[in-house]
Amino acid sequence: MAEINSKQPENVPGAYYVDTNCVPCNDCIHEAPNNLKYNSDESHVYVFKQPESPDEIKAMKNAMSVCPVEAIGNDGT
Ligand code: SF4
Repeated sequence: MAEINSKQPENVPGAYYVDTNCVPCNDCIHEAPNNLKYNSDESHVYVFKQPESPDEIKAMKNAMSVCPVEAIGNDGT
């Protein structure tokens, strides 16, 4: 389960976030390329845009399910 108190600093405000456990393995970006990307030095992934459409929300949920270290969270806000 992602840690809400360990969010990557680049995440945009909103329900979804990536925490500091990100490896990064790149799997989630394949699922939600409209919302997730690498930071500048490619040391981790972060949420650059919160999902808005039903398709983007579905893609983000898929990204959460494929993350091997459960680094993607949804705090429900
Ligand atoms: S799937 Fe998880 S560990 Fe892999 S890049 Fe995405 S957030 Fe990081």
